[in-house]
Amino acid sequence: MELISIVVPCYNEQEVLPLFYDEIKRVTGEMKESNPELSFEYLFINDGSKDSTLDILRELAAKDSCVRYISFSKNFGKEAGMYAGLENSKGDYVVVLDADLQHPPKFIPKMYNYVKNEGYDCATTRRVSRAGESKIRSWFARKFYRIMNKISQTEIVDGAQDFRFMTRQMVDAILSMQEYNRFSKGIFSWVGFNTKYIEYENVERAAGTTAWSFKNLFLYSLEGIFAFSTAPLALASLLGILSCFIAFIIVVFIIVKTLIFGEDVQGFPTIVCAIFFVGGLQLFCTGILGQYLSKTYLETKKRPIYIAKETEQAVRRQDEDK
Ligand code: UDP
Ligand code: MG
Repeated sequence: MELISIVVPCYNEQEVLPLFYDEIKRVTGEMKESNPELSFEYLFINDGSKDSTLDILRELAAKDSCVRYISFSKNFGKEAGMYAGLENSKGDYVVVLDADLQHPPKFIPKMYNYVKNEGYDCATTRRVSRAGESKIRSWFARKFYRIMNKISQTEIVDGAQDFRFMTRQMVDAILSMQEYNRFSKGIFSWVGFNTKYIEYENVERAAGTTAWSFKNLFLYSLEGIFAFSTAPLALASLLGILSCFIAFIIVVFIIVKTLIFGEDVQGFPTIVCAIFFVGGLQLFCTGILGQYLSKTYLETKKRPIYIAKETEQAVRRQDEDK
């Protein structure tokens, strides 16, 4: 027997969850038919939803013994959701995918085949188009990947997603990364292992709305840079050296000029501009230091990545009482 865990982080997904459940059941049902050795568990993470997502999960868990769920005490973010899912999954293989059907479950049989029969440790999808996304967003996304791959040793593949089919070994490797500031695109890549990329066209959300605003995405990309690159720290030294060099040239220039033409008091605006410019540079670099310091601060607190308030045990116990 082989157990495959399906891990699904959910945040305000009441509209799409029933659709998702039907679709994943259909796909895994077909897999089971062609391979009776397989069994599945469906592990939903309710990431502090404010709608009736939790009620739906309770219902599903009550009628389907393969459905498990973990409900957080508040919204901890998708990264925490995925971590909780991986940590609590029991399968020999684990699939992580979104609830909104943007990660089509129909790819799972293919992924299983790559991992099981072709020697890969992980199979994932890579979208080759960004259809249904605004132009500005795509532009920023592309720029982010270019910058990121220049300044970080960890390769972040453009269009790679969190839709992953992994072996238990890889899951354990990911879980061994206990960091609080989690940037999974980096983590997946950092642990290594053989990864198969399946290319596909982007699909839009089946129902509901995305929880990611442009601002959130932008902050998330900064998160990625600070988590997987220390290049911004080096930027401070570089700018320092550069402005020292410029200052040296100016000093030589002024000495020579004074010796030849003498000194009349002038150049007040120039001084003010220089002060503002250098002051700005210094604050900018201190800010970068602050970013790393704040991340270090949060890491040293060793706060839990998530706090579970309820699991499917609640529903199971009710059943037993009846
Ligand atoms: N999600 C979550 N916690 C959050 C935000 C999102 O668990 O704080 C889940 C969400 O329910 C979905 C997945 O993460 O299953 C991806 O979210 P979304 O579709 O909003 O993001 P996008 O597809 O636009 O990247
Ligand atoms: Mg989505």
